[in-house]
This record gives sequence, C-alpha cells and structure tokens, in this order.
Amino acid sequence: MQLEQKVSRIRRQMRQLGPLLKGTLIDREIPCGKPNCRCKKGQGHPGLYLTYSSEGKTKTVYISKKMAPKVRKWAKNYGQFKCLLEEMFQVQLKIIKEGK
Ligand SMILES: [Zn+2]
Repeated sequence: MQLEQKVSRIRRQMRQLGPLLKGTLIDREIPCGKPNCRCKKGQGHPGLYLTYSSEGKTKTVYISKKMAPKVRKWAKNYGQFKCLLEEMFQVQLKIIKEGK
C-alpha cells in the first residue's frame, strides 16, 4: 500500500471513532468523607472513577452507574485514537525519510 493511502485510511478510521475521553478509568472503593458514613470504617463506596491531570494536579471524578457504559466506550475510543495517532506518526516518518 502507498504511504499516502495508509494516511488516508488512518484518517478515515479516526473520523469513525465516537467521542474521545482522555484520562484513566478505575474501578475502586473510595471513602466519601462524610463523618458518620459506613465508609469511615474502611469500606468505601464502589464505583467507577475517572482520574486525569489538570494544571499538574491529579483529579478524580465519580462516574454514575447510568453514565458508566458510555464513559467506558469513550475511554476505549481514546485508546484506539492513540494507537491510530502512533500509526500515523510512523507512516509520516517514512514519508519524511523517503522525501516524497
Ligand atoms: Zn461514605
């Protein structure tokens, strides 16, 4: 396959991806911080959380059960997007080296 065709294919695949979500999804138990809650005794609230960094700080957002399937899909799309981005980079490097 021609390198230019490869780039077109990658661009097409990028366009076909749905919404993208940057960050890391984690399933875990987290204490809510309320003084009389059961989680004070060590049992946190199970749930899905998104961690991301903003201005050098790591932040965590709780994702509701209702949103979870959607959010998982967005995160998966982002992973695929990153793979495509890397693939495109490799093809473009070849194009640069071949000087065409
Ligand atoms: Zn709690």
